[in-house]
Amino acid sequence: MSDQSRYLKSDKLITAHYGEEYEHYYNAVVPPVFMNSLNVFETIDEYYDFDRTDKHKYCYGRVQNPTVRILEDKIAALEHGAGALAFASGMAAATTAVLTVCKTGSHVICIHNSYGPLKDFLTGYCKEHMNITTSFVKGDCVEEFEESITDKTVLIVLESPSSLVFSLQDIEAVSRIAKKHEALVYIDNTFCTPIYQQPLTLGADIVMHTTSKYIGGHSDIIGGILAVKDSALMKKLTANRELLGGIAGPMEAWLMIRGLRTMAVRIAQHQETAMAVARFLETHPKVKNVYYPGLESHPQYQLMKKQQSGNTGLLSFEIHGTLKDAEKVAESLQIFKIGVSWGGFESLAFLPHARMEENACEALGGSQNIIRIHCGLEGTEALISDLESALAQI
Ligand SMILES: *Cc1c(COP(=O)(O)O)cnc(C)c1O
Repeated sequence: MSDQSRYLKSDKLITAHYGEEYEHYYNAVVPPVFMNSLNVFETIDEYYDFDRTDKHKYCYGRVQNPTVRILEDKIAALEHGAGALAFASGMAAATTAVLTVCKTGSHVICIHNSYGPLKDFLTGYCKEHMNITTSFVKGDCVEEFEESITDKTVLIVLESPSSLVFSLQDIEAVSRIAKKHEALVYIDNTFCTPIYQQPLTLGADIVMHTTSKYIGGHSDIIGGILAVKDSALMKKLTANRELLGGIAGPMEAWLMIRGLRTMAVRIAQHQETAMAVARFLETHPKVKNVYYPGLESHPQYQLMKKQQSGNTGLLSFEIHGTLKDAEKVAESLQIFKIGVSWGGFESLAFLPHARMEENACEALGGSQNIIRIHCGLEGTEALISDLESALAQI
């Protein structure tokens, strides 16, 4: 294998070159999509005795694939982990992590603002089939985690910043508590990407990304990834991915590799635009609140500075007005389209709480009429003027 250590000096060198072995594919500067379901062997012994951790040995596509492996090596390097595993969706990654760490009767601590379908999995499937119980905490105060720990707690689920009201958790402090009680810390790092936050270096055990967002970056794939600190845990997760069958397809992995190459420059632009949009909204007379961790007015701005080196393109705001007014603002936008996802090139607007009861929204932080927007790459001025016109409609 060619010497890869020279590429470990910076994130941009990792995304551009690390994990790629040009000499293995005719010196093509882009690796091929290994679109094969199996690899063949000369002898029976060769099949039975091959080392599954060897980067140059493969047997079957549900176990591992060379294109997928390149992606995983890059993410593991970016997150400073012992390894990484790519999945067919963010939820496939998340559920494989939960099912690997938890047993029947385990207890989980999860923040209120974590990704909705993961909470549904914990309180629905895991409760019903495995009697796993989950305690929810707000997450902005470390004592809350300590108070919720029981002798059955095996997992703490974080998402910092969370992707609706952008609340943060102190990753280092929570990880210290978890370690004391022999629980593992899982964190959804999708908002920051591996470029702006590396939770494993702060003590977390498992990092999850849905690559459907910034890593893919072009709204053309669904995918997920786990990066892990410890090689024994990596081994268990690898075995369970094979059994649960959630590996990413080679074409998606190839698109993730391509997305990674431009991610640092894309998110820098998303950040610049989102900062300008957040400042515009903050001073607008019809806007009541803006939620964006890049703003000095964010209540956890100091913690953000401590554990993140940047923010990306997602933010939310509340207007002075009713739910109908908020719907009118979202529907009056011309460039921002109405849609749930984010992390792609395009600008989006959504009302995540529009069909929830006001008292159910309270626990999550934002009101019923909170508007979440993703600032895409269409240009800062165009997006601000779009918001200005939409706000003028109410
Ligand atoms: C989209 C999203 C997920 C789920 O990812 P999928 O690829 O859709 O399964 C998880 N966490 C966050 C923060 C997300 O935005």
